[in-house]
Amino acid sequence: MALTDVSQTRREDPSSHWRPPPPRRLRTILERLRDEYGRPTGAPHRAPIDELVLTVLSQNTNDRNRDVAYHRLRDRFESWAQVREAPGEEVEEAIRPGGLAATKAPRIQEILRAVGDDDLLRLEHEPLERARAELCALPGVGRKTAACVLLFSFGRPDIPVDTHVHRVGIRLGLFRPNAPLDEAHDELLRLARGSDPHEVHVALIRHGRRTCHARSPRCGECPLRRMCPYARATAKGGRRPPATAA
Ligand code: SF4
Repeated sequence: MALTDVSQTRREDPSSHWRPPPPRRLRTILERLRDEYGRPTGAPHRAPIDELVLTVLSQNTNDRNRDVAYHRLRDRFESWAQVREAPGEEVEEAIRPGGLAATKAPRIQEILRAVGDDDLLRLEHEPLERARAELCALPGVGRKTAACVLLFSFGRPDIPVDTHVHRVGIRLGLFRPNAPLDEAHDELLRLARGSDPHEVHVALIRHGRRTCHARSPRCGECPLRRMCPYARATAKGGRRPPATAA
């Protein structure tokens, strides 16, 4: 029986070729996406509790259903204190169009109980690490939700990494192949130094939604294809890199 050639059969670790890119790579990507989709607008709203609740409602649903659920909740109750004290089934009924109401209603109430009467506006001026840690200490709140609150409420330089940002970033070589979300989050903050954090987040999400789809990315129409390792690998007929799962 022939001896197995170990050098041919050993699977190569895709991370072995990856090197952390310099911040100018992200700036180039942003310039091209700005030409394609325009510059995103949106001023900080200084309503961190609203943003917390909205982010919980956004889980596993689309923006439209999230917004319907949010407005029904605001119409049904006069204040977040009322939502906190309401019977769970009333909150659940109000947010039902957003999906997973039986999970989201108790989560929202737990967060509101943990927050109490604090309006969280002080997070605007706390050191970023401490503000993030305080938010992540709330029940069910992770780094993405904390970053949504800090970025959209106050314009602070934290950048949520959702499934679109994660997928697009890995395909473009911004993140290590198979990088977990927390690692991608840290890496994006490093790369985004000197860039507008709101633009970074919105531009990568738009690109993921409109062009760099999870299953069938439209590489032929993509303004980034000449600088995209994923597009190069697939154009050569190679195996799809493992960076497509997110
Ligand atoms: S070239 Fe393809 S894989 Fe690369 S960013 Fe564009 S759509 Fe995504």
